[in-house]
Amino acid sequence: MHPAPYEGPTVFGYETDLPLRRAAQISVHTSPLSALGGKDAGGMNVYIRELACHLADLGLPIDIFTRRVDPDTPAVQELAPNVNVVAITAGPPEPIDKNALVPHLSQFASEMALYSLREGVRYDVVHAHYWLSGRAAHLVKRYWDTPFLQMFHTTAHMKNAVAGVADRETDLRLRTEQRLCALADGLIAANPDERADLVWRFGTPAEKVCTIPPGVDLDLFRPGDRAACRTELGLAPDEPVILFVGRIDPIKGIDTLLEAMAILAADSTIEAKPTLLLVGGDLDASGAPTGPLAAVADAACAAGIDRFIRFAGSQPQDRLPRFYTAADVVAVPSRYESFGLVAVEALACGAPVVASRAGGLKFTIDEGVGGLLVPPQSASTLASALRAVLIDDSLRTSLAAGARPSVERFAWPAVAASMLHVYRRLAAGYRAHLCHDDEIFTESAGD
Ligand code: UDP
Repeated sequence: MHPAPYEGPTVFGYETDLPLRRAAQISVHTSPLSALGGKDAGGMNVYIRELACHLADLGLPIDIFTRRVDPDTPAVQELAPNVNVVAITAGPPEPIDKNALVPHLSQFASEMALYSLREGVRYDVVHAHYWLSGRAAHLVKRYWDTPFLQMFHTTAHMKNAVAGVADRETDLRLRTEQRLCALADGLIAANPDERADLVWRFGTPAEKVCTIPPGVDLDLFRPGDRAACRTELGLAPDEPVILFVGRIDPIKGIDTLLEAMAILAADSTIEAKPTLLLVGGDLDASGAPTGPLAAVADAACAAGIDRFIRFAGSQPQDRLPRFYTAADVVAVPSRYESFGLVAVEALACGAPVVASRAGGLKFTIDEGVGGLLVPPQSASTLASALRAVLIDDSLRTSLAAGARPSVERFAWPAVAASMLHVYRRLAAGYRAHLCHDDEIFTESAGD
């Protein structure tokens, strides 16, 4: 017997009301395959990679579209089983500053559509990361009737609120983000503050915005042998060590951390001065900081604290657990963080964290359990909190004990299950009432 003929709507002959079979992620300006810790490769790259791999584990194949920056990159690379990274030619195949990418987005969208036609694949949901990808996802709607989810990974408004004049985001980005709140079929906020901002400032209907926090790889980030890690990193067993990990960007608050280090260096009550181990940024062939990291080194020299700082440069992510394990405390002095993956990774390794009370960090850190929160951009408060953790053994021990249990709720399988739940609802047509409330995460975690 033949199956009943399909009578629903079609686009290019594809049925449009069948269940979720494949999803596309768009990351125009940075690839999940990029080395981490550079200027434009950090938490978002990790997030896209991990989300795609865990969705594939749950049975949903994912294609990640990113702009080609090298003519020799293969058109399709398999990141994991059922996860492909597709290089799309849009503009010259070379690195371009992200603010110069807008004129190439139309070509990006049409090349995505051509790829799907050539390969005979269709997508039931498009998930766009960052505003540039959101614009591309909207342009793809010229070709596909596929709903799209937008995730900003920090809005220009939030960034500008804490940025210096030189680092302000463009009006075009501000306007585009405002438009995307109306154009997207759904939005994912990484924390309740971000959701409130999308709803109240941008006027996005609340039922379109779901809150799903970041995930962490609890298998990679786990407590290890501290003595062995210290030996491997060339740290003395009793040397007090403060660790910083992240991109070298003003939003990370490294200036505040250097000021706090100067306060600790001048504090006569601290006998053993702490070392600041700084992971991220570039080192030249001789091991000297270069690019934006050179400016950090210059500032440290000017403040007279260069002898207390060690630059490790960017590290592959699978080397980071030994840094977190070796540290006495991990400092996350950011002016703003949408996710704050570094804080969650450190806690998963059992390291106490001292972080800014800013953005996602307020929600990912259980204050007083695994870490302490301090006001952003306050060097004196940051220095006092770091000092307390370094010199008070019982505080450090109790924070270390509480650290990992406090982040077990961010295990990737549960986070990916929540996202899959949203994808399913979107693909099934719940565009007006995507999120019944903002508790999608806890509600669906057991799905
Ligand atoms: N990271 C890394 N190597 C480095 C520096 C950072 O693998 O040298 C990774 C780190 O493990 C984390 C991400 O980059 O997963 C940074 O994410 P976070 O949310 O802390 O900051 P963002 O880059 O999103 O501002």
